[in-house]
Amino acid sequence: MPEPSVLASLVAGLHSGSIRIVDLTSPLSSSTPVIQLPPPFGQTAVFELEEISRYDDRGPAWYWNNFRSGEHTGTHFDAPNHWVTGKDLDDVASVPVDRLIAPAVVLDFTAEAAEDPDFLVQVDHVKAWEADHGPLPPGGWLLVRTGWDARSITQEAFLNADEHGPHTPGLSVECARWVAEESPVIGLGVETVGTDAGRAHSFDPAFPCHSYLMGSGKYGLTQLRNLAVLPPTGAVVIAGPLPIVTGSGAPARVLALVEGP
Ligand code: MN
Repeated sequence: MPEPSVLASLVAGLHSGSIRIVDLTSPLSSSTPVIQLPPPFGQTAVFELEEISRYDDRGPAWYWNNFRSGEHTGTHFDAPNHWVTGKDLDDVASVPVDRLIAPAVVLDFTAEAAEDPDFLVQVDHVKAWEADHGPLPPGGWLLVRTGWDARSITQEAFLNADEHGPHTPGLSVECARWVAEESPVIGLGVETVGTDAGRAHSFDPAFPCHSYLMGSGKYGLTQLRNLAVLPPTGAVVIAGPLPIVTGSGAPARVLALVEGP
């Protein structure tokens, strides 16, 4: 008998349940949390539906909506041109499709973030993880789990802001630089509203994940959920941002394939 093709094996695995699909995407609605910048900066829009017709005089047999949304609303993909450091690099429609299906590793800092909402992942944390699990995957995603997805119920809990600004976990400046410039991954995925820590507006450079990753032609994925279900290594992420021509990012359906029961 000939060897089954790789795609036939994939389909058989999906059918038998030996390969599972995990939805890493936060549902999009008008209550999906969005980032809030201090004045005088412009603000992103929340997601909004505008009904065109619903089996009524405006369209007796059909239901449909227009929608309004920021590019960076909900689970979304940051393209390199999102930041000034990557302004001449790819827009979201130009990201090569072979970057949209890639291996992923998950580093779990839930305990640290529960203890300290301003927790910052350091290069040494990543190197300690690599000592246990092997090197970060070339061409893959570094996904940082912090348990923050449980807070996405309300904007207030998700942004966790006080008079000094938001308090949410992220990467240190040096770790952001290292992931962008020295590690083999194509991007960073997080559970928070953006790839940078809540306090990153005061870092040098400000918003170092955005600054270094976009400047290196790398990507961001935000507001991921269900990272708890993924193994530390071996998952495959399918990230599908809308191909908004000239866009700086887009809401994305993000799925992971995992092996095992
Ligand atoms: Mn973004």
